[in-house]
Amino acid sequence: MSGLVAEPIPFNGRCIVCDGSIKKGEMAIFDETSGHIHEKCYTVNLPESSTTEISIDDLYVGYEDKSNDLITKLTLEGNTDQKLLEFEANSPESTTKTIESISQSRNPELASLMKIRHNHTCQVCEIPTFKNKNGDYHYTESHHIIPRALGGLDKPSNILIVCANCHRKFDSGDDSTLLETYRILKQKNIIENFDSLKQYNAISENLFNQLSNLD
Ligand SMILES: [Zn+2]
Ligand SMILES: [Zn+2]
Repeated sequence: MSGLVAEPIPFNGRCIVCDGSIKKGEMAIFDETSGHIHEKCYTVNLPESSTTEISIDDLYVGYEDKSNDLITKLTLEGNTDQKLLEFEANSPESTTKTIESISQSRNPELASLMKIRHNHTCQVCEIPTFKNKNGDYHYTESHHIIPRALGGLDKPSNILIVCANCHRKFDSGDDSTLLETYRILKQKNIIENFDSLKQYNAISENLFNQLSNLD
């Protein structure tokens, strides 16, 4: 697996490792899940052994694969709703600003419980996905409505269970794709309003205005 490559940042931003500013045009490493990282902070803070291990693919596929056994265990244990209530009530561990935290930015137990709770079905399109290679359930992913990098919490109320295709819409879709996706979530009463998405800069002003006009 190749690591992430540094590119000129298209706008002024902030480094998720040192919290320092990154000026427009400066070289930075962009991680889709966490945000921008100074080139120097990326190498300095990486654990030596994992330099080549972190990539966008790892963040999704590697993580999801490792959750297989956990899902089977938690399914057998039961009490899913009770456990989710506890996750919602407990204050989450603080978001550490180190690169090592990327893979820890979601609690695998919480993500697995959410998958069980939603019957391994995408909350957006509800189209059944393929079956996992380990365990008798369909493949899904967990998505933070407000991304962790923007301050979103790792709590049930901030997590959606989605198929891989719908997940990519959140992370890579244009505003009209996102409008359609969020419209579905509003229709289903999964997201009531978009104020906090706007507050945390998770959506553009333009998209927020369009979403506010939905019935
Ligand atoms: Zn879907
Ligand atoms: Zn996501």
